[in-house]
Amino acid sequence: MVAGRRPIPLTTRLSTARVLIDGPSELVFDYAIPAGLPVQPGCRVRVPLRRKSAHGTVLALSDAPPEDFALRELEALVDPEPLITPTLLKVGQWIAGYYGSSLESVVRSLLPEAVRTEENSAKTRRIAVLDAEPSAETLAKLEKKAPRQHVILNLLAHAPDRRLATTDFGEGSSAAIKSLEKAGHLRIKLEEVRRDPEADGVEEILESQPLALNPGQAAALEAIVARIGEPAPKPLLLLGVTGSGKTEVYLQAARRTLDLGKTVLVLVPEIALTPQTVRRFKARFAAMQDQVAVLHSNLSQGERFDEWHRIRKGKARIVIGARSAVFAPLPDLGLILVDEEHENSYKQENPPRYHGRDVAVLRAHFEGCAIVLGTATPSLESWQNTQSGKYDLVRLDQRADGQSMPLVRVVDMKLEATKNKGGLTILSDKLRTALERRLEKGEQSILFLNRRGFARSLQCPQCGYVCNCPHCSVALTYHRTDDRLVCHVCGHQAIVPRKCPGCKDPSIILQGYGTQKVEDVLQKLLPTAKFARIDADAMRRKHALRDTLNAFKTHKIDILIGTQMIAKGLHFPNVTLVGILNADLGLHVPDFRAGERTFQLLTQVAGRAGRGELEGEVIVQTFTPHSPSIQFARRHDFDGFAEQELEFRRQFSFPPYAHCAVLTARSNHERRAEFTLQNLHKRLQENAPPDLVLGEPLPSPLIRSHGQFRFQITLRSHHARTLTRHVQQVLARTSLPDDVTVVFDMDALNFS
Ligand code: ADP
Ligand code: ZN
Repeated sequence: MVAGRRPIPLTTRLSTARVLIDGPSELVFDYAIPAGLPVQPGCRVRVPLRRKSAHGTVLALSDAPPEDFALRELEALVDPEPLITPTLLKVGQWIAGYYGSSLESVVRSLLPEAVRTEENSAKTRRIAVLDAEPSAETLAKLEKKAPRQHVILNLLAHAPDRRLATTDFGEGSSAAIKSLEKAGHLRIKLEEVRRDPEADGVEEILESQPLALNPGQAAALEAIVARIGEPAPKPLLLLGVTGSGKTEVYLQAARRTLDLGKTVLVLVPEIALTPQTVRRFKARFAAMQDQVAVLHSNLSQGERFDEWHRIRKGKARIVIGARSAVFAPLPDLGLILVDEEHENSYKQENPPRYHGRDVAVLRAHFEGCAIVLGTATPSLESWQNTQSGKYDLVRLDQRADGQSMPLVRVVDMKLEATKNKGGLTILSDKLRTALERRLEKGEQSILFLNRRGFARSLQCPQCGYVCNCPHCSVALTYHRTDDRLVCHVCGHQAIVPRKCPGCKDPSIILQGYGTQKVEDVLQKLLPTAKFARIDADAMRRKHALRDTLNAFKTHKIDILIGTQMIAKGLHFPNVTLVGILNADLGLHVPDFRAGERTFQLLTQVAGRAGRGELEGEVIVQTFTPHSPSIQFARRHDFDGFAEQELEFRRQFSFPPYAHCAVLTARSNHERRAEFTLQNLHKRLQENAPPDLVLGEPLPSPLIRSHGQFRFQITLRSHHARTLTRHVQQVLARTSLPDDVTVVFDMDALNFS
């Protein structure tokens, strides 16, 4: 923690600052604060580092006198104000304590790399300004003596506000401009230019007008607006069925917040998967586009720098972004909207492993601002908080236009398989007939399948041999386009064997099916239909997703086939049929949330049907037609689902009745990972807090990934902080082998 030793005599107690140095190596050092320098946590500072200077961020201050050595002093304060607001620093400290992450990793999230690195700065351009109309005399003189200066002055005199960028005068004008400036005819000003991530304006966005709200929406809006004025408002869960007009409520609530002089933060699960929500915000606030910032992972460093500073300075008053936008440094925050609050993508899977929704709730608490969690399928955590009174609840049980919820039919695929005498059945008779009827009527359909590629795996029918990834404990997936086997965990590729590697039988066959296979089968069954596929493979090309969705919207496509990429937020009024090809997906995974995920996915996918004038129908194909998730989703019955699922969670002390964390040990050496975890398990048992439920050390369901062996322990407790602290204490006391990595994931969502 010491940057260098300089033997200066210590006469007074010095305050010290702990500084995170910019750069990839994440060094943290203590420095003495020179008298009179108003350093605060969150400030950017310049410090001596070895023989040079470096920049860094102040993590914390302390009064502790330096011990047996003298610390080097800070050189300077870079910005007079801390870049991290005091509230966000408090949020950061909470994250570090709750999730057991290092404060450094949290500060890295609070101040993105683009803002921290020295190379980045605002981009400026030179503007020529004319303070007064040039006199006729001046113009006449220049026309004769210096024609180029004359042209420039004339252009400027006729420009709006009598100002132009110097680049507007064309190449080779710089000498003339300089002469004009010298003679006092014009003034040169430096102006910041925004590197606008949306500048190559993909499509023009027309401003949309607010709709007249129905009574349910109006009540929801008033509930939100009332909270904006309160000093410590409770979080509000907005449970609105798909198509109930939640987005319209968000838009009007955002407008009212801005009218009150406050700013708005909108979190969406993933920008790429929620293009329509983002577009609707941009359309509604089209007249003030320069006050809307969109944060996403595809911004360049320069764009991110500009957007961040626009937000910090209060120029951008609406911020829309994914998970990490929860740290957007908005001043005067009035309202946070978390759309699709149940989505797992809000959980960060790298350190710090925070949950964006939960951090948003905490930030709202510290900011004293309103927060709305919106969804058609609440997470059981948020739902339970409404039952316990921690959150308030507002419901929209009807679709906005009075359309009815789609009719959901369940087809038992076991029966279909017997009809088909063991052959591969992709489409049931019922779904095929329904698709044909839509084609006749000129209506559109969506088919949903949660698998990528042509077939799940290659398996030999003679000996049962399966082609597995050599680095991960999963079967390889066959991809037809490039005739390859691909590992969906690590990306490993292999050629397709001609004969079974086990028994040399040549009849190794394709098992299961994927979106490509569905497309092939459809082509044969419905030769006149036009269809397109949306999955991670088909969408690799830039703009492919947008182009395909546009083609679907303008009805150049009849049937859209897709993976979970099409489950969310899409709104196509002409879609009257949604087919779910294999609803059992995800039910057979070793995860206590499997039922909840299936219910959410089915409800969301079904919600894509019947969003216009026409009535919608959903056909669910499943091998387990009686499973509760499928039956409750069929009846659009969230309350029923939640009641029976919570009963199960309560019995087994799973979330939301306890916090659940996972401790994983990973290593290239199987035995060492296992030993380390067994050792940690033993130590976790000693002095364990009374209500800690410690699981056995076990191989992870995905025992090998990226070549590393993985073992895990699950831990449960009613007290999150006690759990985290206990694990941290044990980790601090245990020295780990160099080649073993231990990861602690609090409130884990991923148990694979
Ligand atoms: P959700 O976000 O709850 O899924 P949306 O906000 O997308 O629902 O609304 C579904 C459809 O209903 C959209 O086409 C929207 O324009 C329309 N809509 C929403 N509110 C109203 C309203 N008050 N009157 C008429 N149409 C509405
Ligand atoms: Zn692999």
